[in-house]
Amino acid sequence: MTDMKSAGLTVSVEEALRIILDSVRPLSGESIPIMEASDRVLYDDVVADTNVPPLDDSGMDGYALIAADTAGASRDRPARLEIVGEVQAGASTEGKEVTKGTAIRIMTGAPIPRGADAVIQVEDTEEEGGYVRVFRQATRFENYRFAGESIKVGDTILNRGDRLTSAKVGILASLNHNTVSVYRQPTVSIISTGNELADIGEDMQFGQIRNVNAYTLHAEVGRYGGLPLYLGIVKDTMADAREVFLKALGSDVVISTGGVSMGKYDFVKDIFVDLGIDILFEWVKVKPGRPCTFGKKGDKLVFGLPGNPVSSLTSFIQFVRPALLRLMGATRINKPVVNAVLDEDIKKQAGKVFLLRGRFTIRNNELHVVTTGNQKSSVLRSMSEANCLIVIPEDTTRMKAGERVAIQLIDHDEL
Ligand code: AMP
Ligand code: MG
Repeated sequence: MTDMKSAGLTVSVEEALRIILDSVRPLSGESIPIMEASDRVLYDDVVADTNVPPLDDSGMDGYALIAADTAGASRDRPARLEIVGEVQAGASTEGKEVTKGTAIRIMTGAPIPRGADAVIQVEDTEEEGGYVRVFRQATRFENYRFAGESIKVGDTILNRGDRLTSAKVGILASLNHNTVSVYRQPTVSIISTGNELADIGEDMQFGQIRNVNAYTLHAEVGRYGGLPLYLGIVKDTMADAREVFLKALGSDVVISTGGVSMGKYDFVKDIFVDLGIDILFEWVKVKPGRPCTFGKKGDKLVFGLPGNPVSSLTSFIQFVRPALLRLMGATRINKPVVNAVLDEDIKKQAGKVFLLRGRFTIRNNELHVVTTGNQKSSVLRSMSEANCLIVIPEDTTRMKAGERVAIQLIDHDEL
């Protein structure tokens, strides 16, 4: 159809990723309730305007006392202190003071009364007739939690670009933030191309297969914080597809699958050109996933992913995922790559990076990896059994069992 097909722009995996990331302009921010903010990315730094904890308080149930009063105390020779009061968590310490030879009964989280410089835990004491016997020497500031020891006024406690983990949501709560500024979630239109595709529930005609890609990609988009919008199957003609691609350009990101290879009816790049999408690359030196078109129109990112179910998924992981994370302002976008011991021999051709579907396990504190079977890019089964991609460099042609190999941990959070 077009002569750009065979020539085209071929890039390495690294170049492809750089081109994509250079094209991303992070989205704007929005304010949302912290109860809905898990996994979203912070749009602003968070600076503490209160101390956490707000007051010095006790880390244990026990007795607030003066450590020096327990000097030399032991089981046999306990220190004996007069109990002059009690402070409960949430109660005031007004009018309460520990002076030499006295102690105040105190609960975990209760403010430390004036005069005390330590809390001895209840397990090391015995109470009797208004006195407490202390069976060991207390150290100064033992079980003593200082105001601001967790967070001090003025600390930049969370940073723009941080993903909000549960602990970070808790930090926001501790600082009395009911809402938080986060990056907007990108909207992502998903289109499946192919005359042979039947959607779930549709009757299968001779020669048809189920549409798989829309569903794997819908799941992936959601997993990385995008808002997926499935626009259905389009036939392999400009006439059928043009309107749908045009509608898709209403989203921040467009992902189509199929129709970007060398076949006579691979028309997706013609649509890109027709709709004024600048094509920045067309082929990547990687297997699976060689046919992979990326373009942009204004700030819209458009991915023409390959049709084979494994290729579209691995291409998503390598290229679309980091783009979505960057759109959402995330600073951490790399899946960890670590070394593992290869437990089988591998042969491959030179000239492309291979991403083999693998499963790693841990034996004797070491990572070991094997492939998960049939590596054809049409065989999703081996991808569904994989927990990593084994990365074999462009120029390597064989690897022996026992050698160390790089594996990308696709189920691990980004570092
Ligand atoms: P294409 O690049 O369009 O020639 O597609 C390559 C291969 O992937 C063909 O065998 C297609 O049938 C298959 N394929 C394309 N799209 C999908 C899809 N959405 N779900 C499952 N298989 C697909
Ligand atoms: Mg096709």
